[in-house]
Amino acid sequence: MIKGLKVEESITCAHCGSEKIDSFEYDNTLSIKGQEIEYKGSSFRCSNCGDEFDTAESMNYNLLTVRNKLNRTRQASTGMLKSAGRF
Ligand SMILES: [Zn+2]
Repeated sequence: MIKGLKVEESITCAHCGSEKIDSFEYDNTLSIKGQEIEYKGSSFRCSNCGDEFDTAESMNYNLLTVRNKLNRTRQASTGMLKSAGRF
């Protein structure tokens, strides 16, 4: 299971240099091959200046989230296609 995005101690704000970094989630939609994938994206936000940014960690984390969601959506839509024939 994936838990929330961890804030590494080495992360500092590129804007003000502060080490007071939090992770936060946001609703995002990605369009892949005509399919809308809604997922919770994660990024970092500086508590000092409010700057929001991504790191390699958060981008990997988001990629993994989308991939998991995509697998689940594929299974769901296959099921929907089958039942749709009855209506
Ligand atoms: Zn900052």
